[in-house]
Amino acid sequence: MAPVSIASNPQSDADILQSRPDRQPLPPLLGGSIAELTQWVKDQGQPAYRAKQLHQWIYERGARSLMDITVFPKTWREAAAEIPIGRSELHHRSESRDGTVKFLLKMTDGQIVETVGIPTRDRLTVCVSSQVGCAMGCDFCATGKGGFVRNLSRSEILDQVLTVQEDFDRRVSNVVFMGMGEPLHNPAAVLSAARSLNQDIGIGKRYITISTVGIPGRIRQLANERLQATLAVSLHAPNQALRESIVPSAASYPIEELIEDCRDYAAETGRRVTFEYILLAGVNDSYECMEELAELLHGFQAHVNLIPYNPIDEVDYKRPDPTRIRDFMQALDDRNVAVSIRRTRGLESDAACGQLRANLGKPTGRVGRFGGDRRR
Ligand code: SAH
Ligand code: SF4
Repeated sequence: MAPVSIASNPQSDADILQSRPDRQPLPPLLGGSIAELTQWVKDQGQPAYRAKQLHQWIYERGARSLMDITVFPKTWREAAAEIPIGRSELHHRSESRDGTVKFLLKMTDGQIVETVGIPTRDRLTVCVSSQVGCAMGCDFCATGKGGFVRNLSRSEILDQVLTVQEDFDRRVSNVVFMGMGEPLHNPAAVLSAARSLNQDIGIGKRYITISTVGIPGRIRQLANERLQATLAVSLHAPNQALRESIVPSAASYPIEELIEDCRDYAAETGRRVTFEYILLAGVNDSYECMEELAELLHGFQAHVNLIPYNPIDEVDYKRPDPTRIRDFMQALDDRNVAVSIRRTRGLESDAACGQLRANLGKPTGRVGRFGGDRRR
């Protein structure tokens, strides 16, 4: 049987941009490839070379409306002014001492989406959201606790990357789908956005990471898409029973099957898979858990990224003490499992994606701890 494409969603911006059925809202131009924009420009009765200008103004010059594109004839700009480019409004911005910046962006329907820009000397990484909320309900996750609201569209995902790029006035080098939402629960928009990140914004395929808790069948389908993105799987436990107790959606995906799908992904794409493992004191940080994890991944060219738990208000898990975290890492290393610890950057509070948004609505005023606004 031919592989089923997970990118075929008739509601995606791309499809709407190509042929807009009556009563559809006007599609945003952001996310359009040169080919799609050329078609659109021609449909508008304009010469094809305008598409290249449009592409440059959307992706490099930060146009927020067609009215901004001063090289276009005024009469056309005015006539087409209601056609959206697909940019959000800045709702909140907070910066930590090490330069990490969190953004809350307001979408056209008023929904708020969280995005983080993480700079280092030679990289600028954006942690993007793929959904408003999340249906997976992980017990330790602020986003999961809030439930699912809706999918983000391709343009709403790309907008987050452009927002960070413009704010830092520096090219984004890496994009990680580790913000709010489960990317493989919204595959059409995520894959379409990933392609556009590569082709329109110029981010290397291998510098795009899709982090997933795992949805049956979708990792195999992702391999079929030949996207060459980095796959990160939120494993969090070395066996099915423990995994289900903290990741409820795991009930429909036996851990052995998940690992098998990851092995296939690595074999088919030639890419090493990363396993994320949140460390919760007294839950999954024991010596036995570590042994079981090493056994589970035996012979697999995988990489384990240990994530010290960042406390959220809704549950009383605890972060293991630093010695335990180090010992867990060392023991995996001794068993030849490639392992690293995720450094919590600039995130004195509200560290995990989804937490800033969750906490903004609360009367604690925690947001101010990031040190105020630095709007350009
Ligand atoms: N839904 C996807 C991607 C978004 S979550 C996934 O789960 O992989 C991105 C990462 O943030 C996941 O690895 C998740 O385990 C982690 N995370 C969520 N809540 C956290 C918390 N309270 N402390 C530390 N990491 C957390
Ligand atoms: Fe969803 Fe990921 Fe949070 Fe789980 S950790 S609830 S999959 S966003």
